[in-house]
Amino acid sequence: MLKVFAENFGSQFGIKSKAPGVASRNPASDPIGRERQDAMQCQNCFRSQFDGAKLHRCSGCKIEFYCSRECQKEAWQGHKVKCKLNQRVALLEPEQRDSHTLLRAFCTKHRPTITVAAACALKLYQSPELSLTHVAQIHVYTRKASKRTETAFYAVEIDITPIDDFPKEMAEELKGQMATARAKCVKVGGEGLLYVLVQCLDTSVANMIGSGFTQETILEEYEENWKEVALKRLNEGIML
Ligand SMILES: [Zn+2]
Ligand SMILES: [Zn+2]
Repeated sequence: MLKVFAENFGSQFGIKSKAPGVASRNPASDPIGRERQDAMQCQNCFRSQFDGAKLHRCSGCKIEFYCSRECQKEAWQGHKVKCKLNQRVALLEPEQRDSHTLLRAFCTKHRPTITVAAACALKLYQSPELSLTHVAQIHVYTRKASKRTETAFYAVEIDITPIDDFPKEMAEELKGQMATARAKCVKVGGEGLLYVLVQCLDTSVANMIGSGFTQETILEEYEENWKEVALKRLNEGIML
């Protein structure tokens, strides 16, 4: 999948990063990171550390989290494709691999912001069926001057794209994976599941995030100017 993205976006966009510089850690960041912890979920039962779950990484890709062997086993059917894709990252050029590692860390730091922005972009509460056919996209540039993970990228746009716009094979894989994960999420009391693709335009790497959500995912302040708020948080390195 990443190779495909590299091919697609490498030719589609210029390769120079045009991200502005950034100051040191933003004082508005929450040092406790409570919501961030809450946003780290078992990818099978969607319980978080906040619910008392002890999360372990998938032994195959070392990327997804599970709370138990049982959950990993149950999730395997739906995860195996993505697991393979995750492992393909190891085959990327060193520079792209480093960029992917950094992008993943950036996404983890900003997971609550990314999840809520994606929920708003996908208009989940007006038209929840949109999350079945579309993924949210966040377009970022590398910020080479930044020494902090939370400001390592600069976001320029948040939008949505139909899954059918992806290469056919990948679209099919994605749809299957999303349907399975979503059904599971709803079964355990979640509202649904959304997918976000965070793409770095200058290094052509992408990180896909699947996140279960509840009614509380959408905060009031996001209703009107959610995009502005999300971009500000991402670009000033404000972690929730
Ligand atoms: Zn679990
Ligand atoms: Zn895996």
